[in-house]
Amino acid sequence: MTYDTVVVGGGVSGLTSALILARHGRRVAVVEKAAKPASLIGGFERGGIYFDSAFHYAGGLGNGDILDLFFHYLGIDRLLRKVPLDQNKFDIFRDSASGWEFSFPCGIAALQEALCEAVPHEARGIQSYFVCLAAAFRQLPYLNPGTPEVTWNPVEAVHGPSLAEVLRRFIRDPRLGHLLSLHTLLHGVSPQEIPFSIHAGVVLPFYRSPCRIAGGGRALAAAFSAQIQAAGISLIQGRSAEKLVLSASGHLQGLKLADGESLACRECVVSIHPRRFLALAPQGALRPAYRNRLMGLEDTSSGYILFLHGLAPPPILAGSNLYLGFSGQGMAEALSSLERRPLFVAGGAFHADSAQTGHGWSVICPASWLEMEGEWASAGFPRSDSYRAAKEEVSGRIFQRLAHEAPEIVQGARLIEAATPLTLRNHCGGPRGGIYGVRQAVGQYNPQPATRIPNVYLCGQATAAPGVLGAMVSAFLTCGHILGDDRLRREIMA
Ligand SMILES: Cc1cc2nc3c(=O)[nH]c(=O)nc-3n(C[C@H](O)[C@H](O)[C@H](O)COP(=O)(O)OP(=O)(O)OC[C@H]3O[C@@H](n4cnc5c(N)ncnc54)[C@H](O)[C@@H]3O)c2cc1C
Repeated sequence: MTYDTVVVGGGVSGLTSALILARHGRRVAVVEKAAKPASLIGGFERGGIYFDSAFHYAGGLGNGDILDLFFHYLGIDRLLRKVPLDQNKFDIFRDSASGWEFSFPCGIAALQEALCEAVPHEARGIQSYFVCLAAAFRQLPYLNPGTPEVTWNPVEAVHGPSLAEVLRRFIRDPRLGHLLSLHTLLHGVSPQEIPFSIHAGVVLPFYRSPCRIAGGGRALAAAFSAQIQAAGISLIQGRSAEKLVLSASGHLQGLKLADGESLACRECVVSIHPRRFLALAPQGALRPAYRNRLMGLEDTSSGYILFLHGLAPPPILAGSNLYLGFSGQGMAEALSSLERRPLFVAGGAFHADSAQTGHGWSVICPASWLEMEGEWASAGFPRSDSYRAAKEEVSGRIFQRLAHEAPEIVQGARLIEAATPLTLRNHCGGPRGGIYGVRQAVGQYNPQPATRIPNVYLCGQATAAPGVLGAMVSAFLTCGHILGDDRLRREIMA
């Protein structure tokens, strides 16, 4: 049998692409090396306790907002229950030194008002900043499917300005600049490097309508799986893609799997990290300049993650997430010492029926893969003693910080598991353990959907934008390239 399209990688971007293309009558197969699709967002269990691993909350999930439209278009909305976060405080920032707190309310107008109340002498700057943010957002494709005249040129984002440059134009008070940069943790790139337009694309949907999903990432993964099955898409799971098969004239003929079987296909959408895509391409199929460009792509920051368990979840996490950090401190400065880094405490998918087993929640601390460089060569298990000792030491230090800066997060809680940049390299698939994938940075040209091999396309891995929303935008961009952007946009709006 010949497939019209084979999608390599069954994460959010790969599954979204598969659903869009199947909806347009293509015969589609998804090849996923993990035992289950959407394994990254699907969370994990330890001793019967469920932990979210790579999906805690998303923006743009309010009725009719962008992620809600995407879910509806794919038919997964009816399989999910959205849980809006606390309207008055969806995210809480707490200054680690003084204990001062700022609560982010939902909605742009409410947030502007809260910021003006907290820093009244910056009221004009706040207003101008938000006008700029909305204008940048309006230019982004697929985040505004109802605006056909969007003429986004990705090169413009690469040329800047950065978030830090725009903040400097309008904001004087470093405490306010820090609050407006806090959510750079949601894309893993510093305010000095992130293009302002990309930052707008990430934070605006969060400011507007942040939600969790009942059942967490596991429920989202299950909804995708069910819809893939309903759409008649062949799911080839637990098997790895190894090589694209090309004819002598360089045209795609199929995909060879690591176990030797080949799938014949006319088109391939590759949703694995662009550097790993290089290994799929046969020798000589890509020009050296293109290979070098993909090899040179830098990833978003990596991280340490603590997974905590307690019989009752901390009340502060019921409708909110907690950000800890040092008010006014820049990101570059913060990364130098573990004790100064921002920490993100994510509430979990807390269920009333978990009263017996208790609940799991997690704490994410940004890190560089270089901190684990000594262990980088050791891909396998069991891990070395030195790695285990380093992991224990880092987890202990973060736990101590929490005991001091947010005791309610660790009181009565046990540390069940920890992850390092090495863990993230294995689970997220980026060669350097980046949390989101390829970074969006001023000066970095990320690959476009079309590759140098005819009918082979890239998507996902934050090449277009980070997070679950970014993975879906990337899938729409790639499928728009294949099917026609106007047509897809009209369908989403319909
Ligand atoms: C700790 C953490 C917390 C996060 N929190 C959030 C959050 O709260 N909200 C949010 O929106 N986003 C969050 N994210 C980001 C979000 O989970 C990702 O951006 C998104 O899931 C990426 O989807 P993707 O399809 O691009 O990549 P992936 O999910 O990595 O998909 C790629 C797939 O390809 C498979 N694969 C790799 N190589 C091969 C091969 N050779 N053959 C076959 N298959 C292969 C992999 O197994 C994988 O399933 C978080 C991420 C992390 C790590």
